[in-house]
Amino acid sequence: MPSFDNLASRPLGRRNLLKIGAAAGLASLPLEQAKAATPMRKIALEEHFATAELEKRGLVARPTRSETLFADIERRLADFDELRLAAMDSAGIDLSVLSATTPGVQGEKDTATAIRLAQQANDLLAQQVHKRPGRYAGFAAVPLQDPAAAIKELQRAIKDLGFKGTLINGQTNGHYLDDERFLPFWEAVQDLDVPVYLHPGDLPDKPAMFAGRPELNGPVWAWTADTGAHALRLIFSGLFTRLPRLKVILGHMGETLPFLLWRIDNRYELEVGKSLAPDARPSFFFRRNFVITTSGVCDNAPLIDALSALGEDNILFSVDYPYQDSKQAGDFIDNAPVSDAVRAKICNGNAKRVLHL
Ligand code: MN
Repeated sequence: MPSFDNLASRPLGRRNLLKIGAAAGLASLPLEQAKAATPMRKIALEEHFATAELEKRGLVARPTRSETLFADIERRLADFDELRLAAMDSAGIDLSVLSATTPGVQGEKDTATAIRLAQQANDLLAQQVHKRPGRYAGFAAVPLQDPAAAIKELQRAIKDLGFKGTLINGQTNGHYLDDERFLPFWEAVQDLDVPVYLHPGDLPDKPAMFAGRPELNGPVWAWTADTGAHALRLIFSGLFTRLPRLKVILGHMGETLPFLLWRIDNRYELEVGKSLAPDARPSFFFRRNFVITTSGVCDNAPLIDALSALGEDNILFSVDYPYQDSKQAGDFIDNAPVSDAVRAKICNGNAKRVLHL
């Protein structure tokens, strides 16, 4: 037996995953093949840009203490030409669905300004998509500071600008999306039949559990905890019973939730004090109303767990450009220990279905 030290210091290779899979009785997991014959053509869904005004108003998060790294991120967020296309080509990405970066419009306190910022971001993105329709598509920014304005802007973005859905950066002015005020927005989303990408944003407050530990405040942990909780708020609010055709996309391999489904079901049954029918359990709604992307996670172990928990139709490739290296993300999925049929679904097939391409 290897020691825990050895296990911790070494990423899980294909051989070990196969051993673990066999030991766990996961015979149905598609682990046969370790490498695509040729790099798979890809669609990526969590790929960000910034407008000059979002930048100027401090609505571009800074997830690094390195000046050099942040300068490179800013340069790439503003670019729609050589830098972005070269990164896409390095990973075999044909099509990037672009979105305004975090916190973006969600971070604006003033409602009228938020409405203007969303329109600006969507108009800029529409121009870029129009220039390169084969390479770029759009997720709309929506000013949820005013739910009625958000509906109007979403309808404009989908119907007039041809966008594929919306990406929302967490809470808006302290309100999470299970708040009753957003129900008409969700109804509009279902009517338009487009997905909502639920992306991390700023936390509305400063929880004591992160106090004095600035390392935890951003993507190292706080964003994962906040976005995972946001997804669970939607499930427990009954939103997906009222609007069963909604589709929510979570990045970062599902913000840890695929790993926890059994426990969430089991402890929820304890909380309500009775056992629940399979279609009343939280996991039912997670499997039916959510898909996840591989954005920002280049690691076989959570990919295999997500495949086991959600199935091969519910995992979509993404990079999280420019916060994640495109080539690293492309190499990861091209070499992941899955069959080429499953790889094709993750790289492009599932995205075509979810985005109606
Ligand atoms: Mn992102």
